Amino acid sequence: MWALQDARLADGSTADVVVEGDRIAQVGPGAAGGVPDAIDCAGKLLLPTFIDAHVHLDKVLIRDELREHDGTLAGAIGAIHERKRRYTAEDVRARARAVIEESVRLGTTRLRSHVDVDTIGGLTPLDGVLAAAADCSGIAEVQTIAFPQEGLLRDPGAYALMEAAVEAGADVVGGMPHWEVDEASQREHVRLCFELAERFDRDLDMHVDETDDGGVRTLEMVADEALARGFAGRVCAGHVCSLAAADHEYAERVIEKCRRAEISIAANPVTNLVLQGRGDRGLVRRGTTRIGELRAAGVNVLFGQDCVNDGFYPFGRGSMLEVALISAHAAHLTTRADLDFALRAITDAPARAMRLTDYGLRPGVRADLQLLPAPSWSEALRLQPMPEKVWFRGRLVAESSVQSVLHR
Ligand SMILES: [Zn+2]
Repeated sequence: MWALQDARLADGSTADVVVEGDRIAQVGPGAAGGVPDAIDCAGKLLLPTFIDAHVHLDKVLIRDELREHDGTLAGAIGAIHERKRRYTAEDVRARARAVIEESVRLGTTRLRSHVDVDTIGGLTPLDGVLAAAADCSGIAEVQTIAFPQEGLLRDPGAYALMEAAVEAGADVVGGMPHWEVDEASQREHVRLCFELAERFDRDLDMHVDETDDGGVRTLEMVADEALARGFAGRVCAGHVCSLAAADHEYAERVIEKCRRAEISIAANPVTNLVLQGRGDRGLVRRGTTRIGELRAAGVNVLFGQDCVNDGFYPFGRGSMLEVALISAHAAHLTTRADLDFALRAITDAPARAMRLTDYGLRPGVRADLQLLPAPSWSEALRLQPMPEKVWFRGRLVAESSVQSVLHR
């Protein structure tokens, strides 16, 4: 048993936290009294570690090896093909491991990664990410999503590989229906994904409508299928960019369906701010889904890193604090309530999307914690510090100290 004393919690209160084994045993003022191993937090901010529920670990850190392209989603997907053909499980493993380790240093200990499953790379990306997840199992927990990046109907053979991926250990069924060539194929893509999820009893986490074209409406297909098959609370839809460009009547209708189907929305403003709206002149669309309206309707909205230095996005470093800050800019989040929402979008919201029951900062949940050198959440968001300490399952897994000296 050990304890943290005089920690500032996100709500501004001060408390002690007692940890026993891999669990939080107690939270409250004076709870550490009598615990011999108590760390003095001196009023610094204690948070549960962040969750990145939307990242692509198989693609990370390949940017410099790709040919130049036009910067669009289609351009990036095409530019990656050649590199994907040359993937080896060891190459994917080393890159994924580097980003997992960096994420842990920066306060994230749970990740859910999409992994390409298609006839270009086969199951090599999955083998690599699963190996990296095993390498890092002592410092982080990584789930994988079988993701048909090249489509299911557009890429004959991908569906059989999706089945093999789930059998090989992918936790969640992915999808990308808007990538199919017409509406009938999109609908069939959605049906195939749900059928696979139903057969293997897996949740779904799909790429949905990552386009500026407001006429692309696979989100409604996903919501209808979730409602019809009783998948309430088991589906996450990522990106959902076209919702921002669609007419308000459709948006209202489909947001209500998402609320009823308890679909989580993974907004990824960090990537979509640079990827979408490229064809616009004058007022340029921002590519970000309707975060404000989804939030107002009570839909679970989370923020993901999505990409780290790959064909889609040249930046990113596995920092969910950075993701929250950029997303706050994209979604006009500035009031106190807004900043609390930004924190939830990288903590409780992804936990809910992943149906985690042992997450948070309360007795009984897993002791995945981080101590940040800031007096409050809003200051942590503004100043972007590295956590001083990160614990995973009650064990210290990362420490950092930064010293900056000014010479007059
Ligand atoms: Zn993505």
